[in-house]
Amino acid sequence: MLIFKEKQSLTDYLSGIQKAAKRIGYVPTMGALHKGHLSLIHESNSENDLTVCSIFVNPTQFNDKDDLEKYPRPIENDIELLLKAGCSILFLPSKEDMYPANEEQPKFEFGDKERILEGEFRNGHFQGVSQIVDKFLKIIPAYNLYIGQKDFQQCYIIKELVKKQNYPVFIHISPTIREQDGLAMSSRNTRLTSSQRANAALIYQCLISIQSKKSIQSFPIIKKECWDLMKKKGVEPDYIELADAETLELLTDFDNQKRMVVLVAVKIGDVRLIDNLLL
Ligand code: AMP
Repeated sequence: MLIFKEKQSLTDYLSGIQKAAKRIGYVPTMGALHKGHLSLIHESNSENDLTVCSIFVNPTQFNDKDDLEKYPRPIENDIELLLKAGCSILFLPSKEDMYPANEEQPKFEFGDKERILEGEFRNGHFQGVSQIVDKFLKIIPAYNLYIGQKDFQQCYIIKELVKKQNYPVFIHISPTIREQDGLAMSSRNTRLTSSQRANAALIYQCLISIQSKKSIQSFPIIKKECWDLMKKKGVEPDYIELADAETLELLTDFDNQKRMVVLVAVKIGDVRLIDNLLL
């Protein structure tokens, strides 16, 4: 595996690869890799000539300084996992290379879709996500881009960004990889104490109960049950929302004419977790 730390040297290298008509698969991450990330690497390996993975904890998408500082950065272990997974290239840029001093950052327009759900609780988050993905797609001429359904709203925003910027890249959205009790794998899970970790399983249990009761109860009633149950166990919901899975328009109740998704964000102590389920 080749490791690049400067965007210019990566661009130079990849332009040679592109001239040789080789297909590049790209997996952007913030590191602290787990089986969820590795599933994206495996998918990319099977569909491309080479896979580029980036690890960059992007400061502009964090609105909570504490969350940014506490974000795990086990880089040696990540390199080992990528080697084992057969990743071809790791891009490990510095903050200065990605955000040169005095460089003005673009502002992208996503309407209310960047202000609802995660956007409501993480002001400016999706501008930060878009800025960094836009930079990466300028550096990495990817044929295929692999992202996880776990970050459902992020997938929506990245699809919109790719359309707006006309990037010739196919977007692949991979299913969420879960722990045995259903908790979605996340780099932040390592920050939970063992009792918090046990209670975190409630997130998926609530998603499943919403799915299984959707033809017998209204969404507001099931939502309240889930909300109360979580709160009792110290799992503090920021939101439990139902949305149209295509447009991300929020729905007040189930609508069988639509493909729907339930999205949840909670805080357990000072750890914030998100998850979702297509109904
Ligand atoms: P992150 O490092 O959290 O920015 O995630 C990098 C990529 O991995 C994103 O596209 C995520 O949606 C995806 N991802 C994170 N967790 C999972 C998971 N449990 N299953 C599948 N993909 C995931």
